[in-house]
Amino acid sequence: MNSTMNYPGLWFEDGDIVLSANPHVGDARRLFLVHKHTLSSYSPVFWNIFNEPSGVRAEDVDGIQAKNDVELLQVNDPASDLAELLQCLYYPTQMPFNFKEPTVNIDMGGLLRLCKKYDIADLAARVVNQLKFEWPTSLAIYEQHEARVRMLGLAHADAPGGQIDEKYLDDRFPEPASIVALAREFDIPELLPAAFYALSLISPRAKYDMYHSPIARQHPECAARLAMLTRSARWSLLAPADLLRLARGQDQLRSPTALTKMFEGRTRSADCSAGCDALLVALRRLAGDTHDILGALTYLRIYITEPDRAPKMKICRTCAAATCGVVATLRLRIWSSLPLWFGVPGVRWHQSNQNWPADQVR
Ligand SMILES: [Zn+2]
Repeated sequence: MNSTMNYPGLWFEDGDIVLSANPHVGDARRLFLVHKHTLSSYSPVFWNIFNEPSGVRAEDVDGIQAKNDVELLQVNDPASDLAELLQCLYYPTQMPFNFKEPTVNIDMGGLLRLCKKYDIADLAARVVNQLKFEWPTSLAIYEQHEARVRMLGLAHADAPGGQIDEKYLDDRFPEPASIVALAREFDIPELLPAAFYALSLISPRAKYDMYHSPIARQHPECAARLAMLTRSARWSLLAPADLLRLARGQDQLRSPTALTKMFEGRTRSADCSAGCDALLVALRRLAGDTHDILGALTYLRIYITEPDRAPKMKICRTCAAATCGVVATLRLRIWSSLPLWFGVPGVRWHQSNQNWPADQVR
């Protein structure tokens, strides 16, 4: 089969080089008419290809062939990844990812692979920054992330069939096992603690590819689970050593004694009421039941500080303030322990209360 298809939006009539990239299986090759100058200005590898083609490795490209007036370069890259790369280079103000929402529509691993192959360092750094935002390296960024998950979770729980714009909650976030694989491939261990934590909240029975195949989504049981905000993962991508790290981290997260001890140390004051005692009982149950201990602590803080709920819970002011203090300390302690618990010690962890640099937020 020799059919080809011009890629819409990346076919510039004044271009001087056609890139021909690998299609999906059985599909036509995709062609991009672009500019040698643009590619060379970003990528020393493309510069070499155009200026010193004899030094280019044959396994990377098939060499340049002149066809009519425009030259053609066959590259062994997936067309979808190459399209993302060219979009980023040609439309830098419209990056297909930003710090406002998680990236689900593009394969960041595929993009990063091409950045490395063609030595496009600036874009690679932006992709890594985006990943570090989505898989937080500080508790402050993780708090923003939690708030977004909570908000979207509430919206999807209220929506008919759990869907908004034909998307389930699970469609709105990147899948964590592929992030572990990406972190391993590109040596970005800082992403691992947050990715492992996300995996620790997902049932091993919830398989991403099963939940997201078009046929499975029509199945009532699968649709019901997705509507109940079930999250899924590509479990088969995890290496045995990473599965073991995950299990060990989960074990640490589910030993609740350390958690309740801090609360149990408190003495009753004269102002204490029935709500103060009930709080401790609720907390013990929370520590024993939940998988998402960081999230549960945030919920606890929200419950006792929300003006609508706090008066009904009848917790004295002293206990409410003390509990909020303990929640903050515990969250920081748990967060700081994640690299150790998930077996990725020595990661360069941002200062725990550091926000994302303002100039990088777009
Ligand atoms: Zn009290």
